[in-house]
Amino acid sequence: MRSITILGATGSVGASTLDLIRREREVWRVEALTANCSAKELAALAREFDAKVAVVGDEGCLADLREALSGSGIEAAGGRSALCEAAARPVDITVAAIVGCAGLGPVMAAIEQGGTIALANKEALVSAGDVMTAAVAKHGATLLPVDSEHNAIFQCLQGNTIEEVRWITLTASGGPLRTLSADELHAVTPAQAVAHPNWDMGAKISVDSATMMNKGLEFIEAHHLFPVGLDRIRIVVHPQSVIHSMVEYRDGSTLAQLGPSDMKVPIASCLAWPRRMETGCEPLDLVAQGELTFFAPDEERFPATRLAREAAEAGGSAPAVLNAANEIAVAAFLDGQIPFTRIALSVEDTLAQSDLPPAPTSLDDVLAVDSAARERARALLEIA
Ligand code: NAD
Ligand code: MG
Repeated sequence: MRSITILGATGSVGASTLDLIRREREVWRVEALTANCSAKELAALAREFDAKVAVVGDEGCLADLREALSGSGIEAAGGRSALCEAAARPVDITVAAIVGCAGLGPVMAAIEQGGTIALANKEALVSAGDVMTAAVAKHGATLLPVDSEHNAIFQCLQGNTIEEVRWITLTASGGPLRTLSADELHAVTPAQAVAHPNWDMGAKISVDSATMMNKGLEFIEAHHLFPVGLDRIRIVVHPQSVIHSMVEYRDGSTLAQLGPSDMKVPIASCLAWPRRMETGCEPLDLVAQGELTFFAPDEERFPATRLAREAAEAGGSAPAVLNAANEIAVAAFLDGQIPFTRIALSVEDTLAQSDLPPAPTSLDDVLAVDSAARERARALLEIA
């Protein structure tokens, strides 16, 4: 049997992971399941999967969790440090699927126990960068990418050496607003922005897909996972999301990974790695698909990829500032406080007005940069 912890078990990636575990119930022993607040939902999952512990990040939800778990024998805990304690329990694999930099502490705790981390929580890697990759090396942990593009690249690199890579090409669907004019973008509502044509995801990453910041974060994520140099990572818009990313080698061979737009495929690739498992996903039907198209990104209408590239080039604390400012702006947009086009503008302003602190060398440094950047972004947007 293999032991597993799922951080962010009630989210979109968490649900896909648990669907896969349901298919192989005899293989998996669930150690910890976590959520932010949805206590009833979390308790139901913890009972179904016979978890040892269930944790809510928001301590205010702990009483509800305790009540929902009463008589089950499953331990209940709540609060930020309880999340990290749950993540620190030794397991074979941790699926890191909390959204945002809020997941960083638990991811670092999981890394410190030296197991395998299937990382969906890209914001944690974007913010912590070298601090996280150094911890992975120090503790002998294995980082497997869940993000579909990075999982594709990881698969295309098997049996090859990174020195022979000429290009890494990240594909981007372009999101639900790909064809809108600059004027139309200004008036986009949260409901329009989260209605992704190909993927069914949480609200924050859906807005990131609509602004293209998701691809910007993925550019930085790729640079940490696959050290080929920033100038060798490029972005191509591919609206059908059939090719999940590609690697071109110096001999002119390009390897691509294709599959349905279902996160169960990359998650399964991590759970079963280096083997394969059944996912129940529809097989790829290229004839029905008919055509695959590709476009260059338009950084006039969607400046987020430029901002992310500039932050990656600046290095140090810039990516953490970019991520924090984006999290604040996306939450404000979803809350109806700012227009869609203000998201990227406020990220740019936050970066421009920040006296960038030196490169973080510890988790505490990263969290300090993150919290100062959040404050600055809120002040710029004049929100509480
Ligand atoms: P989601 O909003 O559906 O779920 C997020 C999970 O994290 C939930 O369980 C929620 O309770 C928990 N959570 C939220 N805020 C928290 C906090 N402050 N403290 C503790 N827990 C908290 O998000 P998602 O779409 O599943 O995405 C999760 C992560 O995976 C994100 O980083 C996203 O970028 C990445 N990702 C998602 C997809 C996808 O298809 N959904 C694809 C690639 C990468
Ligand atoms: Mg992705």
